[in-house]
Amino acid sequence: MPKLASPHLLLLLLLAVFPFPSSSLRAQESHKISVLLIDGQNNHNWKVTTPLMQQILEGCGRFDVDIATAPGRGKRLESFSPEFSEYDVVVSNYNGQSWSEATQEAFEKFVAGGGGFVSVHAADNSFPDWDAYNRMIGLGGWGGRSEKDGPYIRWKDDQKQITRDLSPGRGGTHGKRVPFLMIVRDAEHPITTGLPKTFMQAADELYGKLRGPAENMHVLATGFSAPATGGTGEHEPLLMTVQFGEGRVFHTTLGHDDNAMKGLAFQVTLQRGVEWAATGAVKQLAINATRLTSNVPAMRDPADVRLGELAAIPDVTSKGWVTLFNGKDLSGWSQKNGTATYRVEKQMIVGKTAQGSPNSFMCTDRDYGNFELTFEVNDDPGLNSGVQIRSLSKADFNNGRVHGPQVEIENAPGESGYIYSEGTGRGWITKSQPVKDAYQNGKWNRFVVRAKGDRIQTWVNGIAIADVVDAASSKKGFIGLQVHGIKRDVGPYEVRWRDIRVRELK
Ligand code: ZN
Repeated sequence: MPKLASPHLLLLLLLAVFPFPSSSLRAQESHKISVLLIDGQNNHNWKVTTPLMQQILEGCGRFDVDIATAPGRGKRLESFSPEFSEYDVVVSNYNGQSWSEATQEAFEKFVAGGGGFVSVHAADNSFPDWDAYNRMIGLGGWGGRSEKDGPYIRWKDDQKQITRDLSPGRGGTHGKRVPFLMIVRDAEHPITTGLPKTFMQAADELYGKLRGPAENMHVLATGFSAPATGGTGEHEPLLMTVQFGEGRVFHTTLGHDDNAMKGLAFQVTLQRGVEWAATGAVKQLAINATRLTSNVPAMRDPADVRLGELAAIPDVTSKGWVTLFNGKDLSGWSQKNGTATYRVEKQMIVGKTAQGSPNSFMCTDRDYGNFELTFEVNDDPGLNSGVQIRSLSKADFNNGRVHGPQVEIENAPGESGYIYSEGTGRGWITKSQPVKDAYQNGKWNRFVVRAKGDRIQTWVNGIAIADVVDAASSKKGFIGLQVHGIKRDVGPYEVRWRDIRVRELK
């Protein structure tokens, strides 16, 4: 692309033509999405749940959260006038008295003008008489809501579709707080893409009989409200999106209390829904069925910020990385198994196949446990390769056979970035992953790996590939560069590595 102008000049030009709200500027500076979280009144314990939501959002590294607390019940609300336009997205944990007319107008203008809005749990109980708000949330409950406010919206199993039911009746109910299965009804939406088709939420209130205008509303997931626990016997909407003017709204009915917010289902859908409402896309790593489980609810303490940080790709340009390869010779490395050859050439380690050899490995003399690893690799077509992590070679195991988790390397389309359990007979640890073309054949490919506790994540050329939790793999061992054995009368093939660095984690 030809260079037209400096980024700053370009930005100024753009600003002259399209006056961005200042939130976009903030987000550009910090590369984070700016969130305004609103609370101050709620029939729920907002003093507990607001900090949890802040942890859940900020913990994943993608959001900056500010909090606007409205005056308490019975106090005058004129002073409550947040600068909505300073933010990419507003998240409501508010269920209480009406805001001032000016604040309502500013909020409508913000969302209609393209701002994001997220309604969490009892926020959809609020403002039964504010028409625009009810169109934003699509559906609401309690507060005198009835057929005058709009239809009930349910998934009907016999019709295999979402239906609108205008029969008279109150809006809003829930049964006992129990764990429940969430069923994704649209797996193509950015918020649900890559998530399992069903997963359990922790014990929470499953809202039923919500009603409202439901215009431009799209149901992403439903849950069966079981009569046995006081529910409606209907598949009730749990996650919805609404288009309001130019603005995107995400509505989650989950999140009654701290226990509900410890549910990974609540956390993941909130993180993804807030990103989508703010940007129209979701770049977070999807979490698959090995973690977001369908038999029991997966739990995660929102206070464990580190787990959240793990969702983001490590920055290979930041501080703390240690070079494993000096670019001149193989000091610090030793060969195990196999007779493939390894040589150093132009700052690269070049591995070359040998006829009749089993898999060969050039291994670090040091062991690594919890770490981030990065390298570049360029692999001949036809040669399978990989990088061992946390691997072992012991005389009493298969004659010193190298074994442990391997980050797969091969030409596209293929399994590059998948995790394979080398030498153990367990096969693939990454069971399925839609991305098969992140690797660029014939070019240098940047791999990034994070291994921490039971969890291993990989990225190939910035694209998230694997995110596995595997308690059975070894947790500490060497890093090893594999040259795979080859069939007779093929090859020789070569694979090249460079810029191999590690950053140890606690
Ligand atoms: Zn509740």
